[in-house]
Amino acid sequence: MREDFEVKIYGVRGSLQAVGINGGSFGANTSCVLVRCGDTRIVLDCGSGAFILGEELLNEPENDLTVLISHTHLDHILGVPFFRPLFESRFSISFYGAVQCGRNIIEQIGCMMSPPLWPVGVSDFKASVVHREVVPGKGFTLENGIIVETLLSNHPNVAVLYKITYKGRSFVYGLDYEHCDKSSYGFDAFIKGCDLVLYDASYSNEEYALHRGYGHSTWETGMALAERCGVKRMIMSHLGFYKTDSELEALDRKIQSLNSHCALAREGEVFIL
Ligand SMILES: [Zn+2]
Ligand SMILES: [Zn+2]
Repeated sequence: MREDFEVKIYGVRGSLQAVGINGGSFGANTSCVLVRCGDTRIVLDCGSGAFILGEELLNEPENDLTVLISHTHLDHILGVPFFRPLFESRFSISFYGAVQCGRNIIEQIGCMMSPPLWPVGVSDFKASVVHREVVPGKGFTLENGIIVETLLSNHPNVAVLYKITYKGRSFVYGLDYEHCDKSSYGFDAFIKGCDLVLYDASYSNEEYALHRGYGHSTWETGMALAERCGVKRMIMSHLGFYKTDSELEALDRKIQSLNSHCALAREGEVFIL
């Protein structure tokens, strides 16, 4: 029986895979994270990074998986048709997500996985798949004393931010969130004192000026939040698909020199909480 609380990153790009440029050590895939709380495996979003994660999970003997979907913008679900555990009958997979447009989370994924957009549908899954409704602001528990809290994001359509707490340590999945002055969003309180926060750093402050209302934040805001909220480690993700290795390496050096508890996320990186 494992005891660790581990977070592994499988994709750090936002909106689109990094195409036409070398993904370097940041990688080219869109959002996907695996959290292990002891033997419990929790996937956060199924962007293109879910393909590699799925191949790895096929090599493990356990059959149960929990998948928390923040929202169904394409960059967060485009890996679903390529996530092989869904097509293996030994797996039992629970998908959690908010209802939107009157559709549960599987029905929303089914919109992408149906003709003429895609030939393979959700009815072709071989695993036993169930959907669980998430009401933003309401929490729930999983086995082994795992607590999941949720917060409605400030993002177009309905997007959910997740906080997972296990053995007194916490991880926040804070992607697709635009910072705002409205304290009603409660983001500060949500991340206060957290051990690890994955933050939406799609833009710099300069880029953000041209993208207000798009539902994304900046690395400068992430750093200020980390300091203000006593976050132990702040990792910036949802990085621009058009950003080159050298640009990102330079930005990462700058961020780490300003605060050694902050950095850009890299595909394949593992954090032990
Ligand atoms: Zn996104
Ligand atoms: Zn989005």
